[in-house]
Amino acid sequence: MPIRVLSETIAAQIAAGEVVERPASVVKELLENSLDAGATSINIEIRGTGSRLIRISDNGHGIPADEIPLALERHATSKISTLDDIYNLHTLGFRGEALHSIASVSRLTLTSRHQKESVGARILVEGGKVLEVRPVGAPIGTIIEVAELFFNVPARRKFLKSDATERRHVIALVSQYAMAYPQVRFQLTLDGREAFHSTGSGNLTDVLVQALGLETFREMVEVSPLPPARPDLPPIEVFGFTTTPALHRANRTQITLFVNGRAINDQRLTFAVVQAYHTLLPASRYPVSVLLIQVPPDDVDVNVHPTKAEVRFRHPEAVFTAVQRGVRRAVISQAGTAAIYYSEDYEGSPSYSADEDVPQNRAASLPPPRQYPAQMDFDFDTPAPGRYSQQRPADEAESEYEADTDADAFYPHYEAPTPPTIRPAVQPDDPTAIPEGAGRPKKPRTLPILRVVGQISASYIVAEGPVGMYLIDQHAAHERILFEQFLEQYQARELTVQQVLDGGSVSLNPTEAQLLEEIQPVLAEMGFEIEAFGVNTYRVRSVPAILADQDPHQVLHLLLQDSESGKIPGVQTIEDKILRRVCKAAAVKAGQILSHTEMQGLIHQLERCENPHTCPHGRPIMIHLSNKQLEKEFGRT
Ligand code: ADP
Ligand code: MG
Repeated sequence: MPIRVLSETIAAQIAAGEVVERPASVVKELLENSLDAGATSINIEIRGTGSRLIRISDNGHGIPADEIPLALERHATSKISTLDDIYNLHTLGFRGEALHSIASVSRLTLTSRHQKESVGARILVEGGKVLEVRPVGAPIGTIIEVAELFFNVPARRKFLKSDATERRHVIALVSQYAMAYPQVRFQLTLDGREAFHSTGSGNLTDVLVQALGLETFREMVEVSPLPPARPDLPPIEVFGFTTTPALHRANRTQITLFVNGRAINDQRLTFAVVQAYHTLLPASRYPVSVLLIQVPPDDVDVNVHPTKAEVRFRHPEAVFTAVQRGVRRAVISQAGTAAIYYSEDYEGSPSYSADEDVPQNRAASLPPPRQYPAQMDFDFDTPAPGRYSQQRPADEAESEYEADTDADAFYPHYEAPTPPTIRPAVQPDDPTAIPEGAGRPKKPRTLPILRVVGQISASYIVAEGPVGMYLIDQHAAHERILFEQFLEQYQARELTVQQVLDGGSVSLNPTEAQLLEEIQPVLAEMGFEIEAFGVNTYRVRSVPAILADQDPHQVLHLLLQDSESGKIPGVQTIEDKILRRVCKAAAVKAGQILSHTEMQGLIHQLERCENPHTCPHGRPIMIHLSNKQLEKEFGRT
């Protein structure tokens, strides 16, 4: 093909790809424009995924009628006039690209009335072509409607994720901006249903409750600016809120950072936040934080990325330190009562490199390293009654245990586990009742017969087998057993359900609520009956019976976190994740003392699991030391 200059339309569509990746990026650009126009109230309405219609209206200063066509031109902006202006920027926009890009890949209508004019104007653009400009009556402010995003770039449409994912991105984005601009009233509706709103009261805590949910907010402490670490560094102020070590999440996505009012992604600064929790959180757990960072405008370069989601700092270490110190200071004021997690190489004092001035007396007064990780809630005085034996289906006790006479003969101490309570399969007073499962073929053995020797650290079961010693993680083993049972019952549509009586209601944040709406059909099939009870508030009516002993709201939160994070290797579907989480929640915990009977019952079932070696999340269940290995270790060979 000979070299050619691309037509303007194609060039615009290609360029649009950089700015407009998905519906949420359109919302971001339009929100930023409204904020730049000084709006105090912004309404966002989404229909369909957002590719059908995105409508944003604001009460900002509006655009003069004669400038409206210009606003849609490429590189047309009212925000800068020289390159130097970028380095003293007080607006979010400056590239003059967003409206042009959006208009080139959608059917866009812009209606605006400038505050100094008495009538407004409307422009219609389709795929970058202006169809009409005319005067209209309109309130002061701007309304932009973006219909059929990517209608003329079908290839792009294919890259959009599921409707649900696109909606979640929008919710997350709007609630983020609401947190950074508490003085602005935001309202987001999805297909006519309110998904989020903030009041514009100017009070950050109000918005945090709306955006993160009351339960998360209750666990947050305030971060306030500290005097600079060194006088020669620029003044950097860090405000916001961050969770105490009592609340943590499986991923970093809930660490939200703003620099001069701009939402940014910055791995280093995210790391600064994580670093501030050094020794305070378990490995691979992260806080929820909302941090507003103020830097002198000439110390930050925002012209790094087309979507302006990344920035470059003139003194990156100074910003890093300011964030890390601010968060550390806020969190450590709570650390006296919090659990302390020491890393393997713990050597006496928590090391947080950049933070030389955390009050040393505080750090020194932290409790000494514990022998056990602190999250294990040991309570030797009142051993928790093991729940394991109650969760075994009846038929196993009837058919399997009795059939295993070899086990009884071999291990005289063996006692049959207590019968289960959840699914009473046999009606004792009905002589004709056929014990359920009696005719079922027994599952093949996948482990040799094991004899329980005892329990270590209230977490591991020591067992003896024909060829050596087995050390078994009780939680992982139980998770595996429940998983295989639950899966089988689920597939056979034989799940037992437990009603939740008077469970109260649970308030979710807007993203969680959206997620719940999406996964509700799957949850319903598993026995979760959840009903809406006001905006983003729900009641759990029933749960799968294996969760009878658990706090239904806590389980719900865990399920939602899992559905969001998508981290289990090889596990694709939501359904799979939920199954695994349910079993994890129901399984006996590490730190729970088990009776000999409970342990033997657990091992007995593990012996017939299809995969007795790894838990449903892929971690090992057992360590096997063969007689040969033992002999070698003791120098007998
Ligand atoms: P930028 O924000 O980088 O200037 P945009 O393409 O996003 O570029 O917008 C172009 C121009 O249109 C802006 O500079 C501004 O003057 C005007 N504009 C866009 N949206 C609004 C709005 N909601 N209210 C007032 N003016 C707006
Ligand atoms: Mg803009």
